[in-house]
Amino acid sequence: MKLTKETVLNKLVFLGTAGARYVAFGFQRQAGGLWFNFEGINVHVDPGPGAFIHSHKKGLEPNWVDVVILSHRHLDHCADVNHILEAMTLGGKKKRGILFCPEDAIEIDPVVLQFTRGNIEKTVIIREGMEFLISDNLKVVFPVRNAHGVETYGMVFYWKKKVGYISDTAYFEGIEEKYKDTEDLLILNVTMKEPNPRISHLSAVDAEKIIGEIKPEVAILTHFGRTMLKAKPWEVAFEISKKTGVNVIAAYDNMIFDLETLTVIKQR
Ligand SMILES: [Zn+2]
Repeated sequence: MKLTKETVLNKLVFLGTAGARYVAFGFQRQAGGLWFNFEGINVHVDPGPGAFIHSHKKGLEPNWVDVVILSHRHLDHCADVNHILEAMTLGGKKKRGILFCPEDAIEIDPVVLQFTRGNIEKTVIIREGMEFLISDNLKVVFPVRNAHGVETYGMVFYWKKKVGYISDTAYFEGIEEKYKDTEDLLILNVTMKEPNPRISHLSAVDAEKIIGEIKPEVAILTHFGRTMLKAKPWEVAFEISKKTGVNVIAAYDNMIFDLETLTVIKQR
């Protein structure tokens, strides 16, 4: 099902659900990031490899994007950022749009070209605890620096609904407290089935703990690595649902989620 400027209204599209090297760069799943539409404002979060193509294939034109957010500089989250910004500004013809990113994404070995940044309206460096009003009824907050080696931030959107995205991170004490406002929808990057202290990603066990404490209306698991794919993400989601009483969904590529009704849209 292709979307249009009208039908994408208040939807969230999973342009990718791949996490980490094997699944993202072995192309076992797409890694195009998350496309949110909040009352007409298009926010593309983590445009990884193929984001440009996956958007177009879904009917979503990158030049509709108003805001791009990079949670961090790893390539599975930002490989296509220059393409998206280039499309957003029509190759620099129209100065528009905001980019949010951690400082190390543009200061050290920049992942966003200086030229491309020159074409957009504004670059906002994410700081821990920062709040930013995107429009009168849309605010984004970056509650905490995640534990992921490079500078990494999750985010909470305050809109008609409260929507949180816990990007790549190892589990850390107090993470639930930082994202506790996420009453409606919580998206988690759950890369591993079992915890592995050597890898700074969430496991299904961590996700269960976080979801069980925050108790959002709906939780969506995404950013799957090999062990999660092998375990069948929908089965893992079902188990977490049973244990926490929360409606937990495993995302799939090109899944469309209605942000108003908090339900997955059936596609043919
Ligand atoms: Zn990462």
